[in-house]
Amino acid sequence: MSEQVEPVDFVREKVRDDQAAGRFGGRVQTRFPPEPNGFLHVGHAKSVYLNFGIAEEFEGTCHLRFDDTNPLAEDTSYVQAIVEDLTWLGVVPSGPPRFTSDSFDQLYEWAEDLVRAGLAYVDDQDQATISAQRGGFGQPGVESPHRDRSVEDNLERFRAMRDGRYADGECVLRAKIDMQADNMWLRDPVLYRIRRARHHRTGDRWVIYPTYDWAHGQVDAIEGTTHSICTLEFAEHRPLYDWCLDHVELPSDRPEQTEFARLNLTHTVLSKRVLRTLVEDGLVDGWDDARMPTVRGLRRRGYPAQALRAFCEHISVARTNSTVEIELLESFVRTHHNRHALRRMAVLDPLKLTIANWPDGHVEWVDVVNNPEDPADGTRAVPFTGELWIEREDFMLDAPPKYFRLTPGREVRLRNAFFVTATDGVLDGDGNVVEVVATYDPATRGGAAPDGRKVKSTLHWVSRPHAADATVHLYERLFRSPHPGADGADPLDDLDAGSRSSRAAKVEPALGEVGPGEVVQFERLGYFAADLDDPTVFHRTVGLRDEWANIQKQRSG
Ligand code: ATP
Ligand code: MG
Repeated sequence: MSEQVEPVDFVREKVRDDQAAGRFGGRVQTRFPPEPNGFLHVGHAKSVYLNFGIAEEFEGTCHLRFDDTNPLAEDTSYVQAIVEDLTWLGVVPSGPPRFTSDSFDQLYEWAEDLVRAGLAYVDDQDQATISAQRGGFGQPGVESPHRDRSVEDNLERFRAMRDGRYADGECVLRAKIDMQADNMWLRDPVLYRIRRARHHRTGDRWVIYPTYDWAHGQVDAIEGTTHSICTLEFAEHRPLYDWCLDHVELPSDRPEQTEFARLNLTHTVLSKRVLRTLVEDGLVDGWDDARMPTVRGLRRRGYPAQALRAFCEHISVARTNSTVEIELLESFVRTHHNRHALRRMAVLDPLKLTIANWPDGHVEWVDVVNNPEDPADGTRAVPFTGELWIEREDFMLDAPPKYFRLTPGREVRLRNAFFVTATDGVLDGDGNVVEVVATYDPATRGGAAPDGRKVKSTLHWVSRPHAADATVHLYERLFRSPHPGADGADPLDDLDAGSRSSRAAKVEPALGEVGPGEVVQFERLGYFAADLDDPTVFHRTVGLRDEWANIQKQRSG
């Protein structure tokens, strides 16, 4: 009996309870709120699938909202890129993208209301002084000397801030809450700063910008968000989120913030700041380098969106931070490709194999199954000749006893073709093998011997006269350490500068027809994605071995 398995987690449970209780009139509305200051990464994907997944499951809506309150770092090019990445991830926002900046007028008016209510004041102290006066846990806060300015004085100063009559940093607007609150975020948080920078949407219209805390909950309310889902570090902000909503005239139901643990992955850095450094310092080839954990990088690497979604649903969401092994994500990618990828042959480190008894100039077309997991993918004809490429590591002149691949006197199978026995290795002046000479048994066509004799290994191969050239990039982990930057270390110290190595490969003719971004399995070598811009370039997506299964075995054993 098969039951439909719905993702279950504490956030969905809460939404289900709210809906059952008729809260928000039974409405469910979420939002995904990126700041347009960088590209989306796999951590964002977790938030994307949570927010859009909930909207789908509860027949609600999910907005894409650009949280654009800091003009210094933000740019329209990121807006465009994020929209494209969401499309690629396979989610569709409800309606057009929203922008926090669309609500700058309303936010300003509400801030004036606060001032009029005696709940906000203009402070002329500098940022360092304000921070120091906040104190700390168990340490008293110090009230600003400007805390008790009159409403009229504050209103005049706040308007002067808006009208550009103060310099950047000369003063800020702060909420007047409680300088002795146990929660630091309630110690008179800053609501507005002066920042003369051109905003990507509002241009030079504003010189003051709201902080995250002043903007986020109110814009949730303006848009009609019911469930404002964010990562755990905002749990401490929740009392402030609620305080702000308590003190403005809400146009609709009051939204509620729920926090979940962000995604951390071993061998991976998900800090935008560090990712930007990698790009700007040329340590990778850009935001879409196949080693980057960005949506663009993973896409170039051959990670399908379906696998990212399946992974995110599998790891689910929890209330405590943890780190997920990268091998688990890779196993979702491998499982997907094992089902869908066509099998092909490619030789990454080519060595000539010449069959001495092959009829001169003869081409034998062998029929090969494209994907044993899916008969619908059919077969293809692959040319076999007496002049082949094989993998250099599949031949040894003086082999140890346990070496079962080619060595003089040993018979092996060339996949889907014939048995061959090596007779000799040709050396160059430096003693390197440059060619293997072999004989074949015509009775073994298709890869089996009529007399039932067995061989211990099967090698992949490519016909030399038919081979196409390809560049193949192999990857190690970008960060050697499982926890780059742990204990305050610089994650860049863990960077593996040699994490990409490239090969001039020889590939079977069918690989000349691979489309940009298509992922195929190179037999015995792994899954490889044709580059999005140049399909003669392949990126190794993931190897064939299920390392996640090994990790689990070690744990239980
Ligand atoms: P920063 O605030 O440093 O610019 P950020 O990663 O928080 O970086 P945002 O653009 O603010 O970037 O994130 C958009 C949404 O994605 C937020 O709701 C955030 O909580 C969520 N998010 C970001 N990183 C992760 C992660 N590693 N796991 C899960 N969700 C994440
Ligand atoms: Mg953020």
